[in-house]
Amino acid sequence: SDSHFPIPISPSDVDYSQHFPAFFPVDRDGTDGNLSIRKIHFADIGCGFGGLLVNLSTMFPDTLMIGMELRDKVTEYVKERILALRAANPGLYENISVVRTNSMKYIPNYFEKGQLSKMFFLFPDPHFKEKNHRRRVISLHLLDEYAYALQVGGLIYTITDVEELGDWMKSCLENHPLFEAVSESELKADPVVKLLTSATEEGQKVARNGGQTYQAIYRRVVQEEE
Ligand code: SAM
Repeated sequence: SDSHFPIPISPSDVDYSQHFPAFFPVDRDGTDGNLSIRKIHFADIGCGFGGLLVNLSTMFPDTLMIGMELRDKVTEYVKERILALRAANPGLYENISVVRTNSMKYIPNYFEKGQLSKMFFLFPDPHFKEKNHRRRVISLHLLDEYAYALQVGGLIYTITDVEELGDWMKSCLENHPLFEAVSESELKADPVVKLLTSATEEGQKVARNGGQTYQAIYRRVVQEEE
């Protein structure tokens, strides 16, 4: 249950020096370095074993990013994976971290309004039955929260190998007034899009089995005047 993991009271309560020690050295007075300026900008929701973070880390070495994962053991694995990568590659992988949390409940505890520039939902659990659709991590209601956390112009990346879920995520995004589809030409030019199918453990499994994928990538926009 939720009582087993700590929940920050507000985004300012998130301990950056614990997640990104190389970026937040604590000096002798115990005051934090540049805490007020650098913030987490990418969030991988339901990050699983962390393959996306590992790939994004070297692509955007100055961007802080965090994975959010519900399963305790999987979160511990990702923590160890990051520590091992840091130890083997001094100076690298300092910008990625992971937290165990329920993203459906606690996104606003972690991110201020407009803080994020990218959010990722890669191969989320499908929750096939109608009565379980409320458990899906993309819904019109949750998109309100994601729109709040994303800056205007920020992107939300979704992909699945389940056609019905792909249709569902796309229609939620299409019907939300604060999101707009990213154009084909922009998607072609975005190096991050290529990672959606290749970087995560689930994506690699689907690729190995020759499975089809369905992606929806949308931009946070301001609401049009009526
Ligand atoms: N994104 C990864 C990938 O592509 O390999 C993992 C995909 S896996 C099918 C879905 C992950 O989402 C699981 O690791 C699961 O524990 C996590 N998850 C499900 N509901 C969640 C929630 N409410 N908050 C955080 N993580 C969640």
